Amino acid sequence: MGKEVALHGVSAAPGVATGKAVVLDRASTHQARIIPLASRASELVRARHSLDVVATEMDQIASGLREGGRVDEADIVETGALMAADPGLASRVEVLVMQFGRSAGDALREAAEGSAEELAQLPDPMLAERADDVRSIGRRAAARANGVAPGATGGVLVAASLGPADVAEIAMNVRGIALAGGGVTAHAAIVARSLGMPMVVGLGADVLNLRDGEEVVLDGDTGVLFLQPEPGRITAARADVDRRQAARQNAVARRLDPAKTQDGHRLTVLANSASVAEVIEALEQGAEGVGLLRSELSFLDAHMWPSRAQHVAFLKPILARLEGKTATVRLLDFGGDKTPPFLRGTASRGIDLLLETPDALTDQLAAILDAGEGVTLRILVPMVTSSEQLRGVRRLLATVLDGRPTPPVGAMIETPEAARDAGEIARECDFFSIGTNDLTQLVLGLDREQSKSAPVTDMRVLRLIDATVRAGHAAGIPVDVCGEAASDAVAMPVLVGLGVDELSVAAARVGEVRESIRGLTYADSRDAAEKRLLDQPADAGRKGR
Ligand code: PEP
Ligand code: MG
Repeated sequence: MGKEVALHGVSAAPGVATGKAVVLDRASTHQARIIPLASRASELVRARHSLDVVATEMDQIASGLREGGRVDEADIVETGALMAADPGLASRVEVLVMQFGRSAGDALREAAEGSAEELAQLPDPMLAERADDVRSIGRRAAARANGVAPGATGGVLVAASLGPADVAEIAMNVRGIALAGGGVTAHAAIVARSLGMPMVVGLGADVLNLRDGEEVVLDGDTGVLFLQPEPGRITAARADVDRRQAARQNAVARRLDPAKTQDGHRLTVLANSASVAEVIEALEQGAEGVGLLRSELSFLDAHMWPSRAQHVAFLKPILARLEGKTATVRLLDFGGDKTPPFLRGTASRGIDLLLETPDALTDQLAAILDAGEGVTLRILVPMVTSSEQLRGVRRLLATVLDGRPTPPVGAMIETPEAARDAGEIARECDFFSIGTNDLTQLVLGLDREQSKSAPVTDMRVLRLIDATVRAGHAAGIPVDVCGEAASDAVAMPVLVGLGVDELSVAAARVGEVRESIRGLTYADSRDAAEKRLLDQPADAGRKGR
């Protein structure tokens, strides 16, 4: 065995994973291997066999999901199994292997990409949204053709970059993700954290030269990928995985205990989610509901604004799990790294974009009310910059109430403008939810998709959070934090000390955050927060608030 090599990147989601590398994208210098004519027929047999294996695997996964009561996910996976058996895909693979001499793995990936591109062009948005599913089939089949064992053994996915939908889709099959590029606050990283999937980004293009099937250890805590790991490292990594599993079991066992500091200060811990799987995990870990349902994540491939029926179809299965609990549905937050094809080139983001298309917004508001019976519904408005936007939402909401009570409407405070105008905005809404991800990036002028850190405890950001909490409480409304800082070991106690009422965190971290709160005292957290605000250089002090 060769000497251990450490590739350094940046931690994007904590946890450790061991397994074989599953290389999704090749470095651009990768030359497709040409299979000699005499071997092409047997190469084609291998490719076809891999597709059959994937179809069978997906059927098995779907049965498992169905038995576990996850009917919607089972339906999605079953559709994938049908796609793997699609004759159109098989004939593309045949042409690529027999005529162009592609290897089974390359042919499967390329054929799936071709089919996906065709699907993406279709006018029916439901079909167009299947494009990523076909890509996923191609990747899985290619991994099988390259000898990566399926299912239970998992593996560490290596790719140039991934979108949030890719991560959600892939999570079922891998144990960790290593990316050549990417940023820690991009939505792919958020989904990884939510699912408890270790992830390292920014490893550089060299990582794409790894061989499929090569043993690696991924350390999502320190942001390192180890190649040819020493036996001791593999043993330690496995022990770490076991320890985390035990911590999760402890969180599940304590799910009914309140999240209260040692001196009796009670916080509400909610979950961020965009899928049924996350809601199930969050509730198991003791979440009191959902504080941020990112409604846009499942429409990132959409070719037009989602209809009322499409919104209901997405929301119903999620909200059905939340009967009697808080369900905070955020209005579509398109823009930035969440821009679907039909909005490419649009500069507006979040609520501005929605108010420019009032019919689309009205459809979503109506759908939220339709799907929200039985839950304690709240509507959350993204990227607020002024109180006028909230009045706009309320006007449209009034037109779809149909005798139903008006649910509380909250403002995401995630722009410097909103934080500065929090007093004014508080008059138009029923709760605040501080989006520390965007707020930090916007205040400090960082690029959200590439940035390697998000220092929320920077004085300039903390001042705005402090001002927001004070404005919210002065107006008598609760203040949540739903950005990643809510589960950050350093930032969370500071936020508690600043007086936030609710923390909404990635599903996989609900138990850990509840446990950490039980280890704090409110008095110490307040002192710590006060110090953070005061300890900064004089010119960045509290004056002017
Ligand atoms: C945020 O900006 O902190 C937030 C929670 O919203 P998102 O991450 O979805 O942009
Ligand atoms: Mg945001």
